[in-house]
Amino acid sequence: MVNVRLVAMVLGFKLGAKVVTKSLFSLPALLRSQAIFKELICGTQRLGRFPVSTRILSDSFTVGHRPYLCGMEIKNPQTSQEAMTLENVHGAHNYHPLPVVLDRGEGVYVWDIEGKQYFDFLSAYSAVNQGHCHPRIVNAMTEQAQKLTLTSRAFFNSNLGKYEQFVTSFFGYDKVLPMNTGAEAVETAIKIARKWAYDIKGVPANQAKIITCSENFHGRTTTIVSFSTDGVATGGFGPYTPGFEVIPYNDLTALKAALEDPNVAGFLVEPIQGEAGVNTPDDDYIVQAHALCKAANVLFIADEVQTGIARTGALLATCGKCTCAGACERQPTFAKADVLILGKALSGGAYPVSAVLADNEIMGVIHPGQHGSTFGGNPVAAEVGIAALLVIDEEHLAQNARTMGERFREAMEQLASESDLIVKARGRGLLNAIIINDSPESSTAWDLCVAMKDNGLLAKPTHGNIIRFAPPLVITEDQMEACISIIRDTVLGFKRA
Ligand code: PLP
Repeated sequence: MVNVRLVAMVLGFKLGAKVVTKSLFSLPALLRSQAIFKELICGTQRLGRFPVSTRILSDSFTVGHRPYLCGMEIKNPQTSQEAMTLENVHGAHNYHPLPVVLDRGEGVYVWDIEGKQYFDFLSAYSAVNQGHCHPRIVNAMTEQAQKLTLTSRAFFNSNLGKYEQFVTSFFGYDKVLPMNTGAEAVETAIKIARKWAYDIKGVPANQAKIITCSENFHGRTTTIVSFSTDGVATGGFGPYTPGFEVIPYNDLTALKAALEDPNVAGFLVEPIQGEAGVNTPDDDYIVQAHALCKAANVLFIADEVQTGIARTGALLATCGKCTCAGACERQPTFAKADVLILGKALSGGAYPVSAVLADNEIMGVIHPGQHGSTFGGNPVAAEVGIAALLVIDEEHLAQNARTMGERFREAMEQLASESDLIVKARGRGLLNAIIINDSPESSTAWDLCVAMKDNGLLAKPTHGNIIRFAPPLVITEDQMEACISIIRDTVLGFKRA
């Protein structure tokens, strides 16, 4: 079909240019040229498939004085349907969200545009561990936002050093390299490991290798998808970055064999594979893998973007099944990563804050100009990061995740024994999943999530037939019992399509 909008625009430019040339000598002609130009461009808006709305709403404002906006109104959608249509029409289709439009959140609850309340059992993929809009985090963010938001790292700022001292003490490292998103932090860790391999370990130039695991998820950048084993993540995005070897997850024999290569710089691993469906390895896997890396002089790089910051019932999932009552006690189950990657809940979901932590002999390989980000370590992020971690500590969220998680898994195991819809439940702390008794290609898990949504609880399938459950860690016993009832009733009353 001829693109009407394009034709009209080309015509508009041609005509506009002609009249503008003439109008160098005539003001009335110039004014006429603008009118013609605007009419043509705006006319194309009306000819388009999705006409600009003309509804006047109290919370809208018009920006029509700019020719390319042509009287368009910026307004808040008034219904969920309206909001979904806007996203569908104007946004890239790189996600497939559940049909619910969230408008407000507080603690474990979120509300849609129509005011229906839900329990959030995804927590923005474990970013909102501290609960939605935690007042302490929001205050830290808004107070700092009114004072100074961004300096770039071209200058010092009065917040960053304080945050760096706090976050390194909190996790027990010499240094932190602040970034924004999880994927950026993973990229940072990869660069640090490669640089360490050349500068310290003595790997020949461009030979450094990083070992990763099958079914990993570390983000979506070109380098990161280069070592993904998920065809959807990789398909159509080659050529891929070299220098990675993929071994099976939870396989110490495979790791031992891979570590024999003297050019290995690091082993990049998720202590529990969240995106893969809360793939929970043997209890001693992380400790043993850490020991193998130490023996081979290879950096043990833990991606705790999803598992970290109390989600699994310990401050870090590399703490294993710890029983710390308060602050991290460094129990025998703890494997201190050489390079620790954090993101998501480092801000409680308020702001993009990520970090890579390491001791001096490793972080020291990075010099000015070799890595950075305009927003990394900005004053708002620094204040948000401190507040988010204080909430974790002072509200004992690791301990709450541990006890609530035990109750949740017990209930899910009971449900699995009653319903042939569930194969099993797995997870640690409040990072859990149920495996649905159907193929990954089936719509059963999706349909079940839609039914749970209708009953007031939000969760999302991962890898087709697995449903992850990861509520905010501030969930109370009563709220947990209410959620278990919703899941039970939905599963037991569910009819397959
Ligand atoms: N690493 C892990 C383990 C993750 O789960 C994720 C996101 O889910 C990432 C990295 C990427 O984080 P981001 O989406 O903030 O880039």
